[in-house]
Amino acid sequence: MKHKPSGKNTNCLENMICPDCGNEDELHIDVTTTVVMIDDGSVKHGDLDYDQTSICYCPKCKADGTVGDFTVMSEKLAKAEEMAKAEQIWSAMDKNQKAAVRIGMFPAEIMQAAEKEGYGVRDLSVALMNQAKRDGGMIA
Ligand SMILES: [Zn+2]
Repeated sequence: MKHKPSGKNTNCLENMICPDCGNEDELHIDVTTTVVMIDDGSVKHGDLDYDQTSICYCPKCKADGTVGDFTVMSEKLAKAEEMAKAEQIWSAMDKNQKAAVRIGMFPAEIMQAAEKEGYGVRDLSVALMNQAKRDGGMIA
């Protein structure tokens, strides 16, 4: 993503920006809601439900995609998600694999599984080393 949110949005559009033109003032999102409908039209709507897979559209440059495509993860959130993933991978590893990570070796099958999940190999190595430290120290 070549554009980064300026940080001026702190509510509904927090961390959202058009990836193509950088517009963060107004985005069109397909939502699900319930309206109170009378013969003249709708008078009230309920909560707007949408998630990362909802259709999103930029009225400025006409780029379209999903809400996820228009969302930049904050660094804090990205870090938390990375830690959660490392924890998950770590807990699924057997004793030998954990021992290998403790001496700085990363089993190929673990790295392949991680890559499939969109993990950078270097990021995962660091995250796993940190996980190993939390889980009883490194043998170095
Ligand atoms: Zn745009």
